[in-house]
Amino acid sequence: MKKIAVIGFGAASIGYVNELKNKNFELHIFERSKDIISSSLSGIRSDGKIFISSEMGGKLDLNLDIQRNIVDFYLDKSEVPEDKIEHGFSFQSKKEGYYKDFYMKGFQPVNSEFYHIGTDYLKNVMKNIYDDLSNRSNVIFHFNSKIINVEAVNDEVKITHVNKENKEFNDIFDKAVIGVGRSGHKLVQNIKKRHPKISLSSNSVDLGIRFELPNHIVDDLNREMYEFKVKMETKTGYNVRTFCNNPSGYVTLERYNENEFVTVNGHSKVRSKTDNTNFAILVTHTFTEPFNDPIGYGTHIAKLSNILAGGKKVTLQKYSDFKNERRTKQIGRVTPTLPSENYILGDLNLVFPSKTKESIIHFLEILNEVVPGVTAPDNLLYGVEVKFYSNMLDNSYFKNIKFIGDCSGWSRSITYATGHGILEARKETE
Ligand SMILES: Cc1cc2nc3c(=O)[nH]c(=O)nc-3n(C[C@H](O)[C@H](O)[C@H](O)COP(=O)(O)OP(=O)(O)OC[C@H]3O[C@@H](n4cnc5c(N)ncnc54)[C@H](O)[C@@H]3O)c2cc1C
Repeated sequence: MKKIAVIGFGAASIGYVNELKNKNFELHIFERSKDIISSSLSGIRSDGKIFISSEMGGKLDLNLDIQRNIVDFYLDKSEVPEDKIEHGFSFQSKKEGYYKDFYMKGFQPVNSEFYHIGTDYLKNVMKNIYDDLSNRSNVIFHFNSKIINVEAVNDEVKITHVNKENKEFNDIFDKAVIGVGRSGHKLVQNIKKRHPKISLSSNSVDLGIRFELPNHIVDDLNREMYEFKVKMETKTGYNVRTFCNNPSGYVTLERYNENEFVTVNGHSKVRSKTDNTNFAILVTHTFTEPFNDPIGYGTHIAKLSNILAGGKKVTLQKYSDFKNERRTKQIGRVTPTLPSENYILGDLNLVFPSKTKESIIHFLEILNEVVPGVTAPDNLLYGVEVKFYSNMLDNSYFKNIKFIGDCSGWSRSITYATGHGILEARKETE
């Protein structure tokens, strides 16, 4: 029986393993976390908005039928009661509602359909998937196993992993499938250093803020589409977009590289609601030669924000203070949903390059023309939010080592990461 090492257990590996679980393969899953629930924070463990879209989510050719099957799979595992499933469209119609309002102000509205599972019900998803897989004799989970190296050796693959005590082990497999997501970029970096030709392109990093404002300002928008996705080229020439809207949601910290630095993110729950909505405003920074380290750039800025905040914290600032380059000393009418031990009141002008700052302000000011109240002086900015996009990797480079999901650079969402795993698994049986 062919022995396959599946490295990391997130959305991509779920797609891969689920597709092969009934076939004649021995699947060894190596996950660095101690169990199925407490793995690195990602959409499959926090928030869980599952999209169907050909306009966003990844660069793969993933047809809408596969996308719908993926959504059904996760909804089924979530056990969210049917009447509780939040479902909607971003800009379903070009004729009605907000589409024209955004369009006329220069935004590009992005069309997608989504289902929201919620952080609370995602636990069922992971547990039900785990229960199904771990009951099979051909699927073996290895928790507390952090993979530090993957190497092709003749026609086989050697993987090196460490346990909790940092003891090192080597194992040989017929094949390794790497699905370590964005949080596992160190492993991918290691492999890329030894095989630079595997990278198809030097890419970008998205840097920005998490914006939080009272629900009543965006009620109409949230009612029409829950998740509004728009992008625009701002006066700096940088592209800016909204991302991950959370009506009645929570702002949260995202920890990178085993708590080396923290950034900000947002999510929402089905059973517990707040009075605020949050969404990200992300500025795409694309680099050209000789610079080719967008991950390094984003990491440095995120670390700078932590240093200024005095530890593993983010900076919180009122919009008017950000615009007027003044440190925030007191919050206004909007109560932050991020616990106070996770932020300091400060000045994001000390963190962002001026082009990034100008892009965020320009975007928000025009957004305010479509949704009045967005630039109220005491609305809140948390910084920084970062989206690292791995360079796209050439999966034909190695015969027996394949990269799936976000670490491959081909996906940026649950649907596309899962789909990538499914497509890669199907090649195994073709
Ligand atoms: C906070 C947050 C919220 C998000 N919300 C959404 C959303 O609502 N909807 C959406 O579509 N997308 C969302 N995303 C993006 C989405 O989560 C990812 O696109 C998707 O999960 C990628 O799947 P993946 O399998 O590639 O990686 P992941 O799901 O991140 O899984 C990677 C796994 O690999 C493990 N791992 C990492 N390194 C190693 C190593 N060296 N050895 C062993 N194991 C390792 C990690 O612990 C993790 O379990 C969100 C992302 C974040 C961070």
